Amino acid sequence: MSYKATSCGSYKALSRLIKVDLHIPTRRFGLKQILRNDDSEILRQPKHYEKLNKKQLSSICVFCNDEAINEGLIVESEHFRCLYNIRPVFPGHVLIMPKRHLSCIEYIESSEAQEYLAFTQNIIKALKRVYSTDSINVLVQEGPHSGQSIQHLHTHFLPRTSDDIPKTKDGTGVEEDQEWMDFFRKQEHTGLMLDATERQLEAKRIREVYFDLINKKH
Ligand SMILES: [Zn+2]
Repeated sequence: MSYKATSCGSYKALSRLIKVDLHIPTRRFGLKQILRNDDSEILRQPKHYEKLNKKQLSSICVFCNDEAINEGLIVESEHFRCLYNIRPVFPGHVLIMPKRHLSCIEYIESSEAQEYLAFTQNIIKALKRVYSTDSINVLVQEGPHSGQSIQHLHTHFLPRTSDDIPKTKDGTGVEEDQEWMDFFRKQEHTGLMLDATERQLEAKRIREVYFDLINKKH
């Protein structure tokens, strides 16, 4: 079975591919006082999503669906995963997310925080080495006005190079914040979507360097 998984900008296309109905009536979960036909509201609020079991979550959250995310999986720690994005804005665009459903950084347990930071540091080191750069954009979208399209906490890591986006109008090549965000949003929704083989090839490159770095520490 082939899954096209785990791009924020491809969420609805993906949900069709994995045959998940994004608009399961909320009554199915016995939840009250939540917006009708809006699973994002369920997935955003702990008081709702903490009542759901793993199977229920996997039917409405693509990042809770093990089968859907396996295609892009690079490496995982005890509580977190790193995936290669299906629609990378730049080469090396990966996502780090908790394995259990959380909507916001504030809900990471203090016992998980150190693991999250260490995992993130090692992924950043691996990305810098694999993509030959000293520059990474780190981006989290949290909440309905932030551009977040999947309500499962995930952090974007985007290796950057001097010539990875078109030059600005004044020709300096240094993008203004607004231009960078416009580029990110456009590419996330309309950029080239990778197939499973392409994703796994990139994932393998990062994974090998990641373990090389880890093993050198011990
Ligand atoms: Zn989730």
